[in-house]
Amino acid sequence: MRGSIASAEAPLRAPRGADPAVLCRALVLVCAPRGALVAGLMVGVVGCHPPASAPVDAPKDMSLVAAGEGAGAVERAPAAEAGEGEVAVSDVSGDMVNLDAAPRADERWRARDPAYVAFEGACEGEGASIVVAAVGDLLLHHELQIQAFAAPERHRALWAGVEDLLMRADLTYGNLEGPMAAGLDREGREVDDPGLVFDRVVYTAYPRFNFHASLAEDLVRSGFDVVSTANNHALDRGALGVDRTIAALRAAKLAYTGTRARGDAAARWYTITRSKGIGVAWLACTELMNVRPDAEGQVLRCGDEAVEATIRALKEDRSVDAVIVTPHWGKEYAPEPRASQVTLARRWAEAGATAIFGSHPHVNQRWERLVTSGGREALVIYSLGNFASHQPELPRRSSALFYVGLRRGADGQTRVFGARYVPLHVRQEGDRFFVEAVDRVGGPAESRAHTTGIFGEANLIRPEEALRLAPHCGD
Ligand SMILES: [Zn+2]
Repeated sequence: MRGSIASAEAPLRAPRGADPAVLCRALVLVCAPRGALVAGLMVGVVGCHPPASAPVDAPKDMSLVAAGEGAGAVERAPAAEAGEGEVAVSDVSGDMVNLDAAPRADERWRARDPAYVAFEGACEGEGASIVVAAVGDLLLHHELQIQAFAAPERHRALWAGVEDLLMRADLTYGNLEGPMAAGLDREGREVDDPGLVFDRVVYTAYPRFNFHASLAEDLVRSGFDVVSTANNHALDRGALGVDRTIAALRAAKLAYTGTRARGDAAARWYTITRSKGIGVAWLACTELMNVRPDAEGQVLRCGDEAVEATIRALKEDRSVDAVIVTPHWGKEYAPEPRASQVTLARRWAEAGATAIFGSHPHVNQRWERLVTSGGREALVIYSLGNFASHQPELPRRSSALFYVGLRRGADGQTRVFGARYVPLHVRQEGDRFFVEAVDRVGGPAESRAHTTGIFGEANLIRPEEALRLAPHCGD
C-alpha cells in the first residue's frame, strides 16, 4: 500500500462497539460464496486485523482501503473454531489449512500488508529492552507560539492530547526545527528580550524561526529526552543563536545532537542516552542550511565524512548499545524519499546504525527494514513528518508517533525487534492548534487513511493498546 494515498476511497465506517476481527470474519463469510477474488479483496481491506492485534476497544473509525495484494491472504480462525491444541487458519474459501505448512507469521502479515515491518528474532529473547518514541518536526509557526505564550501550560497546550503517549516510551525524540535564542533578532544581533511575547523581533516564525527557551523545559515535562538541532533553521539566529540554544537545552537537561557551541571544536556531535541499562547514541545531521555560511562549523552536515566515521566509532564503542541517526534531508512535501536518502540510509546502516529517523519533508515518507551485508537489520523511517506546525494541507498536518523497540540479544547485540505507529493530526480551532491522536478523537478519517496508506494497517497501534511492538508474535 506504500505510496498509494487512500483519500480517494470512500471510508466505510464501522459501528461503534464493532469488533474489527468479527467484522472481518463476517466479510469473509459474506464474500466467500461469491468467489475468492472478491473475498480476498475484502480480507485485504486494511481494517481487518487478526484477532491477536485487535484492540480491546473498537476503533472509532475504520477507513477501508482496497489492497490488491490482499487476495490470497488468510484470516485466522477464532480459537473456538480450532480444535484443542490445534493451530489452524481458514483460507478465504473457508478451507482449513495447517499452519505448519504455511509461511512464517511475519511473512503472512507481510502478504496481507506489504508495508508491514517485522524483524528477525522479534518473538524471541529475554534481554533488556526499551521503547523509543519518535515524532517529527517541532515547527512552531507564529499562531502556535502565540497560543503557547498565552496558555498556562505554555507549549504543552499544543500537544496535551498526546502527552501521555509521548511519556509512555522509555526515550522520546523529536526534531527541534529552530533556535531558542533569547535576546537575538533576525540578524543575530543582541536586543532586549521581550519575555513570553511574540514580538516578531526576537520571537519569530517562517522564514527565520526563534522559539522561547521555555520550550526546552516544556518538552522535558512532556517526556522528550532528546532532540535534533541540526536542520536548515539551525542558524536562523546566527552563530550566537546556536550557542544560546545549546545553553537553553543544557539548562533544561534536554539532550541534543547535531550542533555545537562556537570554539568547542572538540565537542562531539552525538549524545548518549541511557535507559534500563541500554545506551543509545543519537547522531543528527542536516543536508541543507537556510543561513550560510556556517563560519564556525557548528552544524553537522549529512554529506560530511564525520557522519559515517562517527557511526563506525559508535558501533565499536562498548558503552553504546544502539546508534540512531536523525538526518534532516530530502525534498520538502515529496511523498517519496529521494534516491540519495535511500543510498545514505543503506550506507549508515552498513556502518552500524540501528535505526534512522529522517525529517525535513514536512510529510511522512515510508519506512523500510534494511539488511546489511552481514545480515544485521536496521529500520529507516525516511520522514517523520510534522509533529506540531501550522501547515494546512492534509499530508502536512498528518503524521505519526512511532514506537520502536530495541532489545539486547543473547549475543550482546542490541537490535530493533518491532515498530508500531499512532496516526497523529494537527486540528485547527480558530487560531489554535492541537496535536491529536486520530484514533483517540475519532478522526479525521482522511488523515488516518493518508497515514495508513504509507505505513499500512498492520503496524498501527491504537492509543489505548498495550505497547506490543511485534504484532505477528501473537500468531
Ligand atoms: Zn527543515
